[in-house]
Amino acid sequence: MFKNVSATFSIQGEPIQVHAVSTGAVAVKTKFRESRKKGWRAQLDFLLDKTFTEWMPIWVWIIEHPEGIFIIDTGENTRVNSPEYFKSSGMFSNWINTTQFRFQVSRADEIDQQLIRLGIDKSIVHAVVLTHLHLDHVDGLYHFPETRIVVHRREWEKPYGNLPKLYPYWLQPDLITLDTSYKTFSQAQFLTKAKDLIAVHTPGHTYGHMSVLLKTDTCHILFAGDICYYEEQVTHQRFSGINVTYKGAESSYANIRALAQQEPLIFLPSHDANAGERLAGHAFLNFDRG
Ligand SMILES: [Zn+2]
Repeated sequence: MFKNVSATFSIQGEPIQVHAVSTGAVAVKTKFRESRKKGWRAQLDFLLDKTFTEWMPIWVWIIEHPEGIFIIDTGENTRVNSPEYFKSSGMFSNWINTTQFRFQVSRADEIDQQLIRLGIDKSIVHAVVLTHLHLDHVDGLYHFPETRIVVHRREWEKPYGNLPKLYPYWLQPDLITLDTSYKTFSQAQFLTKAKDLIAVHTPGHTYGHMSVLLKTDTCHILFAGDICYYEEQVTHQRFSGINVTYKGAESSYANIRALAQQEPLIFLPSHDANAGERLAGHAFLNFDRG
């Protein structure tokens, strides 16, 4: 449904590939994606909302970095299509997940199949980095039992809206702290020796939500996770209906805006239908477009 994209950038003169692959599609309540209300009012609003958004992608990002292959999030798996899938998570979670979201995932969409098509052997993947612990970001984890899984310690210790019963039984992530700073982000951590792949704290959607920045020779790329659902939300200061901390979301938007004013920045939310195109076209976040 969504076209995969492979784009070439360079790091210290060396060409590198960045791939966007969609592991299926998701639709949410329109007021879940965006709301003028906050907190419980916003939650009540989307629960009562009868309209769903159009299908949105579930992007996974693959970076063929000189230090190894990094995968940002793992996308969905086909089991999500089954109404039985959420039963183990209890009545409330089962109700939320079967009434508030719609999924369309085929076996060919899953990350392991996508890697095969790209000719990438998953055994050589250097690390899987999770922006947060929501279902549609962790459901592909079961393909990576041997891989280092990187999670923000804060997200692991204070998750929000996660379904741990659906985690692979072997999951023991490498928990990182964001105890350095990078450009406009006061909480960050370097993921490569070259300090060009950086986890940055972008709270809002969850307390410990993080995004991943890649510094290339010509621009920065922000693999944004679910800080918002499409680019205009951050340029027009419009928030989703499901922020656990609005202060956090506002500070994340402000940090992204400040970075985009310093550096050419490609902004890639996990469910943005136009993100693949912007990656391929090297299209930068522009706050002046109005
Ligand atoms: Zn999420």
